[in-house]
Amino acid sequence: MNKKNQTYGWIEVICGPMFSGKTEELIRRLKRAIIAKNKILVFKPEIDNRYSEDLIVSHNKNSIESITIKDEKKILDVPDDINIIGIDEIQFFNESIIDICIELANKNKRVIISGLDKDFKGKPFGIMPNILSEAEYITKLNAICNICGNYAFFTKRISKDKEQILLGELDKYEANCRSCFYK
Ligand code: ADP
Ligand code: MG
Repeated sequence: MNKKNQTYGWIEVICGPMFSGKTEELIRRLKRAIIAKNKILVFKPEIDNRYSEDLIVSHNKNSIESITIKDEKKILDVPDDINIIGIDEIQFFNESIIDICIELANKNKRVIISGLDKDFKGKPFGIMPNILSEAEYITKLNAICNICGNYAFFTKRISKDKEQILLGELDKYEANCRSCFYK
């Protein structure tokens, strides 16, 4: 849907484990939206500066310009003519991000967000259950299990660190299917 037709907003979530293509899919939707002459802005949390300060970058090196923010309330400052807002790594924001997404959708914006649904213990990640229940549309992606090659829905930490938030790549995490994750 392009801007001139957009008379209502909604929230769509892209979730799944690490390496499942969430960022890739977010970038794909946003680039198509630009072709359809929408005005977009993309945000990511300050914590996630793995690749770049002003881009979101997928593991296969697709990218799109983004704004890095520490305080999620900054998202509410988007100019009126922006009709689509993308947010990557939403699980790193605190719970006020939920009301922010609702407010944006209620202002007729399309809000496309991407995030990890489970943490490295296989449990719901922070605000994700709540944002999933607010969303109109949900896409759950799978990765490929790094152990057996089946579809993976879990993120296994292969380093010894214990905290819930630990940034890392294939050095610290792998994608697992249910059976390999719980083994
Ligand atoms: P996410 O944002 O979900 O972590 P990305 O969109 O950044 O994922 O990256 C997806 C890409 O990661 C895939 O297209 C593929 O090239 C690469 N990749 C690396 N490891 C795996 C894996 N175990 N399963 C699937 N894709 C993987
Ligand atoms: Mg990602």
